[in-house]
Amino acid sequence: MKIAIVGASGAVGQEFLRILESRALPIDELLLFGSERSAGRTYRFRGEEIAVRLLQHNDDFRGVDFALVSAGAGTSREFAETITRHGATMIDNSSAFRMDDDVPLVVPEVNAEDAKHAPWRIIANPNCTTIQLVVALHALEKLSHITRVHVATYQSASGAGAAAMDELVGQYADLAAGREPTVEKFAFQLAYNLIPHIDIFTDNDYSKEEMKMHLETRKIMHSDVRVSATCVRVPVLRAHSESVWVETERPVSAAEAREAFSRAEGVVLMDDPAAKVYPMPLPLTGTDPVYVGRIRQDLTSENGLTFWCVSDQIRKGAALNAVQILESLLAGR
Ligand code: NAP
Repeated sequence: MKIAIVGASGAVGQEFLRILESRALPIDELLLFGSERSAGRTYRFRGEEIAVRLLQHNDDFRGVDFALVSAGAGTSREFAETITRHGATMIDNSSAFRMDDDVPLVVPEVNAEDAKHAPWRIIANPNCTTIQLVVALHALEKLSHITRVHVATYQSASGAGAAAMDELVGQYADLAAGREPTVEKFAFQLAYNLIPHIDIFTDNDYSKEEMKMHLETRKIMHSDVRVSATCVRVPVLRAHSESVWVETERPVSAAEAREAFSRAEGVVLMDDPAAKVYPMPLPLTGTDPVYVGRIRQDLTSENGLTFWCVSDQIRKGAALNAVQILESLLAGR
């Protein structure tokens, strides 16, 4: 099997390398692609140094079976035809094609079947905040249909890429040394701050990130659920957290929910507040599951439940989910 990673030098690209290294996929050849910035740089994979090729409109993708693409929506749009025209399946981490009718939007724990219908040979990986949300919601949906969701996110700096993570570290160092911090990747200084602004704002005053949570959740879950989100950037390096309030058609008790989460694929239950057991981003960074805790009845609604969830968005929210899509296609599930 021949695999390509497009955007190999990035936060998600580097995670692809680590995940492919650790899983037993039968990879005969791995190709790495990037822009002029990283072309020529080498990365080690299974004991071999592989040089990054410049992504161009040529025949480099001939013979490639799967292309794992994470180089931004503009690059995905521009190169989709080049990547897929010789038969490669493109698993795309960007937002370029997520809402297109003929592009499945897949989280294997929820809708692996959808990946089988990809007439353009493009399968989209959902937005990172949506992936961890739907893995958790899927467990509750099996108990009773979820009619609406309120969610507030606490999104780490790395959600905006490798350079954004460096900027946060640099801001703390600059401030400690009495220097003016550099602010380029975010609208404001993130160190010692929170920024309720991720992606651009849309006509209804929700940000695009917030609208992705509404629209993508409906598409993945094949549901009429309404999702109202507030997305906030927080000064955490890696792993996103979410406060979630759900309303179901019939009342679901916290005990029932706890039991459902404990059995759900991809979910780890961490819910013993008295013993200080609840998920947090720092200790869970670099791990695969979606962690759920703080489960309780919503005091404002008879049919309401509330919980807290954390997941490493570069793993389950991006690279791992894409590799799981690839694995599920190989397994023919
Ligand atoms: P990043 O750290 O900034 O990396 C961007 C990557 O894209 C780099 O490898 C860069 O290569 C490559 N690239 C940019 N323009 C290119 C071009 N014209 N041709 C070829 N390669 C190009 O960003 P990231 O966080 O990894 O995100 C990458 C994609 O994944 C984005 O679409 C993002 O929305 C999505 N995503 C990210 C996360 C996350 O948590 N970070 C989660 C889900 C989805 P060079 O270094 O050579 O320029």
